[in-house]
Amino acid sequence: MMITYTAFKGSNSGQVVETKITHEDVTPTEVLIENLYSGLCGTDAHYKHLDLVLGHEGVGVVKQVGTDVKSLKTGDRVGVGYVRGGCGYCNDCLTGYSWFCQNAPKNYGLQDFESGCFATNTVWPASRLVKIPDSIPSEYAGPLMCAGQTVFLPLARTEVRSWDTVGIVGVGGLGHLAIQFASKMGCNVAVFSGTESKREEAMKLGASEFYTAADLKEGKVRKSFVNHLLVTTSELPDWKVYEPILANQSHIFPLTISMEDFHISALMLVTKEISVHGICASTLTQLNKMLDFAARHKIRPVIEEFPMTKEGITEAFEKLDKGKVRYRAVLKVQHHTNGH
Ligand SMILES: [Zn+2]
Ligand SMILES: [Zn+2]
Repeated sequence: MMITYTAFKGSNSGQVVETKITHEDVTPTEVLIENLYSGLCGTDAHYKHLDLVLGHEGVGVVKQVGTDVKSLKTGDRVGVGYVRGGCGYCNDCLTGYSWFCQNAPKNYGLQDFESGCFATNTVWPASRLVKIPDSIPSEYAGPLMCAGQTVFLPLARTEVRSWDTVGIVGVGGLGHLAIQFASKMGCNVAVFSGTESKREEAMKLGASEFYTAADLKEGKVRKSFVNHLLVTTSELPDWKVYEPILANQSHIFPLTISMEDFHISALMLVTKEISVHGICASTLTQLNKMLDFAARHKIRPVIEEFPMTKEGITEAFEKLDKGKVRYRAVLKVQHHTNGH
């Protein structure tokens, strides 16, 4: 049986296009999902000029499972992310890092252009799906699948300790979640934002200190105290301004995709023994840990809801473009309009 569903693609002009996708029936290892919500990420904006189904922060309900799928059943609520799978047999796939697969990579925006979360349905390999914990409402689950995992990874991979200071540059889609994760881990959270406007909200989300760009430029921030610096702004900062506040042996994480080169003082890197880390995606284990931690500590994205229609998506993109979303746009799938 063929599967047909409605989806929203990017296009040359950057206009959102509504289309019908026809998909082969699920293979023995795949799952058919009826989507409920998808978050809107900065990466979707990068891809809206391409002919591909947008969206990689999905949450939905399992409607059909392939004959070999034992980990999921009909009715399970699942999350879909950036990585759709790989060959399944190489070292990268076997260790869970399938986005590095050289044989049959399937990553959002790079391959596999007919599968995305801006759609009424998605067909996905069971091996790249996570169950959403019951206590996380569906509208909040989507943004955890990209933004949430992106900010959780630095904390998980570098063994952040509760007595460390985590610095967060930018209070937006990523930053507002990073503040919550780091503070729930017990860390001292220092937030760096352009202006005063987000001070109150940052403190409410769990920040312990808040500094503006002016504070940094005028040298009003104490020296050498940030152990992990998470940069969540869409553009890379002027590193010179941040050098004095970095602790010896600290870690820097540029978390957004930027096309710029990375200009930082080699002298500082060596003399302060500072590491710069690139991170891309999470293994299923890391995703499950993040979701479990978010569920237990009631970490929720602050969302603005839009209908998943051509108009709704366009409006959400426009707001994102202007930096006006507080703090993550979420698109609600409109099932009644497509005859499912
Ligand atoms: Zn993303
Ligand atoms: Zn592989």
